[in-house]
Amino acid sequence: MAGHEIGDAPGPGVTVAPVAPTFSFELWPPRSPTAKEALQVHLARLVASRPEFISVTYGANGSSRDGSLGVLRYLLENTDVSPMAHFTAVGSTFADASQLLREFLDAGITSFLALRGDPPVGVLEEELVLGDFRSASELVQLIHGVQREREPFVTHEVRGFPGAKRLGSGRKVTIAVAAFPNGHPLSRSRAQDIDTLLAKEAAGANLAITQLFFEADDYLQLVDDARAAGVTMPILPGIQPVLSEQRLHRVLELSGEAMPTELLHALRTSADPASVGIAHAAALSRAVLAGGAPGIHLYTSNRSEAPLAILDDVGLLTSREIPA
Ligand code: FAD
Repeated sequence: MAGHEIGDAPGPGVTVAPVAPTFSFELWPPRSPTAKEALQVHLARLVASRPEFISVTYGANGSSRDGSLGVLRYLLENTDVSPMAHFTAVGSTFADASQLLREFLDAGITSFLALRGDPPVGVLEEELVLGDFRSASELVQLIHGVQREREPFVTHEVRGFPGAKRLGSGRKVTIAVAAFPNGHPLSRSRAQDIDTLLAKEAAGANLAITQLFFEADDYLQLVDDARAAGVTMPILPGIQPVLSEQRLHRVLELSGEAMPTELLHALRTSADPASVGIAHAAALSRAVLAGGAPGIHLYTSNRSEAPLAILDDVGLLTSREIPA
């Protein structure tokens, strides 16, 4: 993951070339043949914008396993974009999760978002069966373990000695984890959220991606608190364009975030709520980038119009090859 970070300061007399902020997308596996067809069109446009990576969500208890793997494979085999697989721990045994991880790694996926996982539909948080895992940190450790076991070392050519090989330690995978600017609904305090993030980094995570949020300060304060506690991995802000009042209610239901009343009012009273949602997400993106965010991760809802409009607005859309 390229990108500068809050608090990165060059030493005296050292010139550091500015690193452009990155952008990336999240999408979910299509749930019907019609949705699959529609996704092809939007995916082609998202891919053409040259994102850093595209992450693909994973349904509760592996319910979207084949669909997720299908989209990840499509990205690997047909595009230059790096796919990131969301991988959830809920309800899984270590043995099952290891087996599934091997399948993902065998398919060529080397980038994961390790998550505890949402409860399946109809299951309350308090009824959730976590299986062998007590937290996402344990999943982070397992992913590194399975990768080390598959590929304990790699060989390098030795320059000037044809045929000679040098052993190096095995390829590292990218393991992202979730972070919560306004706290995880289960968390009792800010300190618990930061401790959870520290534990994830200690377990081997090398990137955090945040839950959606509606005020730049929510993200910037989380980053400040995380840095003060010793978290060093980049923390990418997750930004969701919300294009209607109905969608806002659904997004809050899923995320547990508090109602952003100004945005609600603007969506409710505008004749063009989609433009309101795009402008809000673009302003949020500009503010977090100005505050030092290493990039933006856009929740696409499997569409391309809003994410590309936001990137254009903030000046990150440089590709001139976006299909109509
Ligand atoms: P953890 O880090 O394990 O813990 C979450 C919180 O619970 C922490 O605040 C921790 O303090 C608290 N906690 C943990 N254990 C305990 C305990 N024993 N007692 C009290 N509190 C505890 N879900 C999906 O199902 N599929 C997806 O594809 C998906 N993608 C996501 C992408 C992003 C960017 C984000 C932010 C979330 C995503 N989610 C997804 C949702 C995620 O699975 C849930 O938010 C889940 O509740 C938390 O996951 P975690 O990995 O942060 O869990």
